[in-house]
Amino acid sequence: MAPPVDPPAFVNIGGKRIPVVVVDAMPGRLAEYDPEKRKIKILRELLQDKQVFRDTLVHEVIHCALDLAGISFNTSGVLSEKIEEQVVTAVETLAAPAIIRVWRI
Ligand SMILES: [Zn+2]
Repeated sequence: MAPPVDPPAFVNIGGKRIPVVVVDAMPGRLAEYDPEKRKIKILRELLQDKQVFRDTLVHEVIHCALDLAGISFNTSGVLSEKIEEQVVTAVETLAAPAIIRVWRI
C-alpha cells in the first residue's frame, strides 16, 4: 500500500496562508472550510488515498476562494448553500482539470 499523504500545513489562497488541519473525527463529513477561523479541516483517514485527499482539498480550496472573494453563502448570502456547492463542484470537476492542463503549456 502507498504511504499516507504528507499534508501541507498551509495552502496559499489569494495571498493568505490558510492552515490545513488534519482531524481524527468530523461527524457527517470528510472535510470542511471554516470561514470563521479561515482554516481547512480534513479527516485523517483521507491521507490514505492521494487522489481522494487531493480532490477533497481542491474542493475546500474553492470554498475558501469564494469566501475570500466575498461571494460565498457565508459571506454574502447571495449564493444559497446548495448553489455554492454546485459552483464548487463545477469548478472542481470541470474547470480545475482544464486549468491544470492549460498550465502545462
Ligand atoms: Zn462543499
